[in-house]
Amino acid sequence: MPEKPRRRLSSSPSAPDGAGASLTALRGVGPRVAERLQRLGVRDQFDLLLHRPLRYQDRGFVRPVAQLEENEEATIEGRVVESHLAPGPRRMLLCRLADDSGEISLRFFNAPPGWLERFRPGALLRCHGETRRVGFALEMAHPELLTAGEADEDALYPVYPATEGMHQSRLRGLIRQALDNLEQGRLAFPDLLPDEVVREEGFPSVLDALRLIHRPPREAGVEAALCEGRHPAVRRLAFEELLAQQLALREARARMRRFTAPPMGAGGRLFDEWLAGLPFRPTAAQQRVLEEVRGDLSRAQPMLRLVQGDVGSGKTLVAAGAALHAIEAGWQVALMAPTGLLAEQHQRNLTGWLTPLGLAPVLLSGTLGARARREALARVVSGEAPLVVGTHALFQDAVRFARLGLVIVDEQHRFGVHQRLSLTGKGEDETGGQRPHQLVMTATPIPRTLAMSAYADLDVSVIDELPPGRTPVRTVAIADTRREEVMERLRAVAAEGRQAYWVCPLIEESEAVQAQAAQVAAQMLQESLPELRIALVHGRLPGAEKDAVMNAFKAGAFDVLVATTVIEVGVDVPNASVMVIENAERLGLAQLHQLRGRVGRGAAQSSCVLMYRAPLGERGRARLGLLRETHDGFRIAEEDLRMRGPGEVLGTRQTGLARLRVADLLRDADLLPAVREVADRLLAREPARAEALIARWVGDARDYGKV
Ligand code: ADP
Ligand code: MG
Repeated sequence: MPEKPRRRLSSSPSAPDGAGASLTALRGVGPRVAERLQRLGVRDQFDLLLHRPLRYQDRGFVRPVAQLEENEEATIEGRVVESHLAPGPRRMLLCRLADDSGEISLRFFNAPPGWLERFRPGALLRCHGETRRVGFALEMAHPELLTAGEADEDALYPVYPATEGMHQSRLRGLIRQALDNLEQGRLAFPDLLPDEVVREEGFPSVLDALRLIHRPPREAGVEAALCEGRHPAVRRLAFEELLAQQLALREARARMRRFTAPPMGAGGRLFDEWLAGLPFRPTAAQQRVLEEVRGDLSRAQPMLRLVQGDVGSGKTLVAAGAALHAIEAGWQVALMAPTGLLAEQHQRNLTGWLTPLGLAPVLLSGTLGARARREALARVVSGEAPLVVGTHALFQDAVRFARLGLVIVDEQHRFGVHQRLSLTGKGEDETGGQRPHQLVMTATPIPRTLAMSAYADLDVSVIDELPPGRTPVRTVAIADTRREEVMERLRAVAAEGRQAYWVCPLIEESEAVQAQAAQVAAQMLQESLPELRIALVHGRLPGAEKDAVMNAFKAGAFDVLVATTVIEVGVDVPNASVMVIENAERLGLAQLHQLRGRVGRGAAQSSCVLMYRAPLGERGRARLGLLRETHDGFRIAEEDLRMRGPGEVLGTRQTGLARLRVADLLRDADLLPAVREVADRLLAREPARAEALIARWVGDARDYGKV
């Protein structure tokens, strides 16, 4: 029976953070196991200690088998009545176990050779598992075998997130070792939160917090509070993690601010000429954001600004205005879009706006031929190209700018943090140690709490107004059993000379499967509506082909565009007035809102049909209902954040800094004001502590912030 150390230690041992923390210092961990742990994101013993249980089992409590019900998790103890190997290749061991109350069957697959002996009649066994019904009787398949008396009588058993090759009992043993090391002073995990914070918030020490999390006492309410993250032990760690994240971002920002950037004086002649020539007046929100951006550009420090604006709020105009401001001051501008399609669309818009001013934007995309590409690159490096529009191709090392002064990243949520930052490395050599200004734009409204923490390195502007004259998109939710009716609607839409999207967003990760679903849908539509011109676009099409289809659709050559979610961002076809989305119940609300934003761009009444697989649960009904009732992207994003977590809102590719181990931005949002205040204090007065916090929690990820 393992000893249960209960010795209390000073919460700030003298050994430095990190001493004796390597995984291989643990019994039973060699290079191979260490590697497997790394796949779980566990690099050292601290990470092990921060690996929080998903839930807890109460094993001290042995249940009479006669009282067990179906699908119940329980610990039982009894004597073997009979056991045998079932015939067949799988070495299935079947056993009947009896206690004073009755009998239950146990079933084990691939039983090791020694097990028949272990299960000899009369042997006393304790095991923990889940019951299931087989015929009229209950059995436990593959229960965990405990030595009778092994379980901590007064503790709950942690159940950790595990993976193949690193299963529960192994992980539990390792974490127990790390915790023992901590309790006995072989591992130092100093309290990095300032004392006054701990006092004010009523937090336990790190040691007590970790002990509680991994070996909670069997007291009423503790388990639920731990699992739901309400317990001060979890809140303490969450606070620390949020603080570290905040510090890392603020530090990255401070590092950037130490660079100089080209101050771009406001000439304004070109800019004013451009404004005067626009076919519409910028909205008040566009004007305000443009002024904020131009203010930043006139300073000798790099701008780091995020522009948020709902789909259709007119971010392209802000980008163009910013670009003109920089160009007029004699600098080059790079505008990056997440897809070739969008890059081309920007190129077209900007060419339309800038050509009258005598400026010719250059498009750099993956579909360019070798010769055209060489020519374009030459114009970039010579400085002749004022504005370069492109996709990732812009990042390739071959692209050199003569005088890069401003980088604009559109639909930022589609890019990883790495990409966002690697571009800013460009321009450094070319401008003699200066950094270009940076403007990132996103159509995913990010709730304030999330923005405060995930984008603490950026200033944020919000375009909170749509251009006038838009008719709100009418949104309906329809069971997919009524598909025929929806198709019938398309016929009417086409007859009026308008166009429709039909989106098949499978949840499968694989683009191949998605593409296939879209192909099937296109075929079905074509068979039912033979007189309609139906096009298909998906992520597996070569870039040039995809762009060709989209352009043809935009030019009105097709009535219906069947697509995967490749059309989610940016595509602007004002004549399209119907958006049909299949499997709508399986998509995030923010994503549905994005898709819906593809229509309602002209004056015609547009509609969005959310098709769902019936029956829809209560929650699903509520979710789709919210979309029907509001067009406010922020409200929708808040709801997504509440129901699906920050990954959904920030985009799955936005890992890195957004990935939190203990904290939950929604649950712990109330901590953020205090976190920010403490971050200010530490940066000003205790830089060493700030460093230690970043090293503990953010570790390698901080390189994301290094530009
Ligand atoms: P998003 O913010 O989604 O990128 P876009 O920049 O693509 O939006 O603009 C959406 C549409 O609104 C475009 O057709 C654009 O020309 C138009 N638009 C932008 N600003 C205005 C405005 N102030 N008044 C009228 N239409 C505008
Ligand atoms: Mg856009």
